[in-house]
Amino acid sequence: MSAAEAGLMACGHCGQIMEHRDGPIACPRCGGSVRPRKPASLSRTWALLLTAIILYVPANLLPIMETSSLLVTSRDTIIGGVVYFWHSGSPGLAALIFSVSILVPVLKMCILAILALTVQFGWPLDRRQCITLFHVIEFVGRWSMLDVFVVALMVGLVRFKGLAVIEAGPGAIAFGLVVALTMLATHSFDPRLIWDSPRRALG
Ligand SMILES: [Zn+2]
Repeated sequence: MSAAEAGLMACGHCGQIMEHRDGPIACPRCGGSVRPRKPASLSRTWALLLTAIILYVPANLLPIMETSSLLVTSRDTIIGGVVYFWHSGSPGLAALIFSVSILVPVLKMCILAILALTVQFGWPLDRRQCITLFHVIEFVGRWSMLDVFVVALMVGLVRFKGLAVIEAGPGAIAFGLVVALTMLATHSFDPRLIWDSPRRALG
């Protein structure tokens, strides 16, 4: 049985339990605004998530940095950067850039999509596992700026290697947007919705 079924809801700020109401009310303990669910949570999550997924394509296809020396100008994509560091004797750095700019963002978007699909279509997934997955992406999301930081680091490292001029390419802007949109999508998703879906699953 969930709190909503028992006619109860909790304050998101202080945890105070109160009678379930449809509209937003002020918490009797802390005065914060309490809603039974985040408004339009699922549609906002979808909108932000789908935009992030679409932007992930140019983030990978467009150059994330442009390096120009006297003679040549080279444009590197994220994968190009990974390959470059792998071959230039920094496999650790290549692995770090790969995890942070490909593995982690893709996993985050996949998990969020699975959770949103579960709520939308009542997929029979284990709810406790769904909640655990949500906590994982919420936790990882706190370090999202690390993604952007690593890309900046990659640019910086190349800069110190020679007297080249480095500029962030359009891919970097797309990548920054992907990170920000995924974070907002996670924030828009109301994990309480997982318990509202039809009770087909165990737990
Ligand atoms: Zn409260």
